[in-house]
Amino acid sequence: MRTLFDTDDYAAYCHCPRKAFLSLSGHPAGNPHEYVQAIAATAAKNASSQLRALAAAAAAAGRSVAEDLRSQADLIVRPTIQFRDLAASPVALLASKNTAPGKGVQYEPVLAAGTCRVDVEHKNRLNYIGYVLTQVQHSPPARGLVFTADGARHSVRLDTTHRAVESAIAILRTWPADSKAAEPPAVLNDHCPSCEFRVGCEEKARQADDLSLLDRVTPKLLRRYHKKGIFTVKQLSYIFRPRRSRKVPHGKTASFNVELQALAVRTGKIYLQQVPKLTRNSVELFLDIEGVPDRGSYYLFGVLVCDGKATTYHSYWADDAKHEHEAFAALVDKLTEHPDAPIYHYGRYEKQALATLEGRGRHHGVAFESVRKRLVNISASIYGKGVLPGEVQPPEGAREVSWRNVVLHRGIRSAESRLAPSLGGVLRRLLQGKAAHLQRGRLPSAAASNQRALEDICDGGLQAQQRRLCGPSKATVHGGSRRDSQEVRRHTEVRER
Ligand code: SF4
Repeated sequence: MRTLFDTDDYAAYCHCPRKAFLSLSGHPAGNPHEYVQAIAATAAKNASSQLRALAAAAAAAGRSVAEDLRSQADLIVRPTIQFRDLAASPVALLASKNTAPGKGVQYEPVLAAGTCRVDVEHKNRLNYIGYVLTQVQHSPPARGLVFTADGARHSVRLDTTHRAVESAIAILRTWPADSKAAEPPAVLNDHCPSCEFRVGCEEKARQADDLSLLDRVTPKLLRRYHKKGIFTVKQLSYIFRPRRSRKVPHGKTASFNVELQALAVRTGKIYLQQVPKLTRNSVELFLDIEGVPDRGSYYLFGVLVCDGKATTYHSYWADDAKHEHEAFAALVDKLTEHPDAPIYHYGRYEKQALATLEGRGRHHGVAFESVRKRLVNISASIYGKGVLPGEVQPPEGAREVSWRNVVLHRGIRSAESRLAPSLGGVLRRLLQGKAAHLQRGRLPSAAASNQRALEDICDGGLQAQQRRLCGPSKATVHGGSRRDSQEVRRHTEVRER
């Protein structure tokens, strides 16, 4: 176990204690995710250009921190600050302009980001550097600076109490050098898709049948179940209690039930809490939009037109802000060619993107209003109503960021070949990839059955699917206790697929 802690260790601990543990104990890691690599490369480039821009850098570079602190230079470039077992390496230290008279020069840490906005990780890193700097200069810096990839400089207020940093460091120091017992359990979380230890952790979580494999299991919910002695998906599946009435009250939509999800995973069945209702039409449009969130830009618009006889795909690319406007105009024109067709999309992203783009230009007026009214969020029609067996594919988020990486670093056109198959099957992507949000983890066979089920529900077979799912045949539930089966049969609209 390494005993010198640095900024990366603290940042890793903030994401996930297990990540910090594995990193400190020298556990073999996989390759960093493409997106992480891309962001790191952009951050390094950004740091160099920002430092070049600071004219005083040349004069101050190369000196030791102690020397600079004594000489009270205005700028210290790429210092390594060390205090006992803690080390911190900001891009630079800048002399604060708000130092009280007679206190000497006080420094503020500077970081370079690979994104265009300041996020929680930058704040965590600055807080850690601020803590180590406080030990050296005997005064806490009130703020730090982040240079973002768009050239902007952001001031970040630092936590001068250092409580979070001190408690994390106290835990890091307690991890013994050679003890496996101290290894934090693999609890999957939002950081996993971009973590270099994801393969091993997913395997561990699956072996342990950990609750974090399920979607929507928050740390708070996990603690609640752990207090009740429930640690596995299988255990959770036995505590599902269906509602007394078969019917959902009018106007009320069924909410996602993690216990029913666990039951679906154990039995391999599809459970319907409420039959999904979708508006169908002879001509239907499926919309998908890709963007770079931290830049607030959109680079690809895809439309699948299904007119009952044929399906055609249309994609509109935007290399920059000007082209973004043109691509958006072309998209609105395409969507208005079929004024009565519903426009399906998965999740809120497309609706928000369209509203943002219209807000930027305000050129389409009536045409845009007609588009806005026809938007149908498939997710809202399915989510919580149908519970499918199977686990999500974590690379969904990772795939998105990886595409973004390709766009950012290899150019828009080179990404086209990777995206084309996806655009070629916008519907498939909507259903296959994004609908798999139901769980984290991976279970290919179940994912395939999910896809079939969703395609049936959403792709022309709705009526048939409803008949099959809710028809006269008796419901059957396999697995679980007899009491479970009877209860489920009595109270829920469970239909064998
Ligand atoms: S993969 Fe997930 S659980 Fe494992 S170390 Fe990384 S963040 Fe933590």
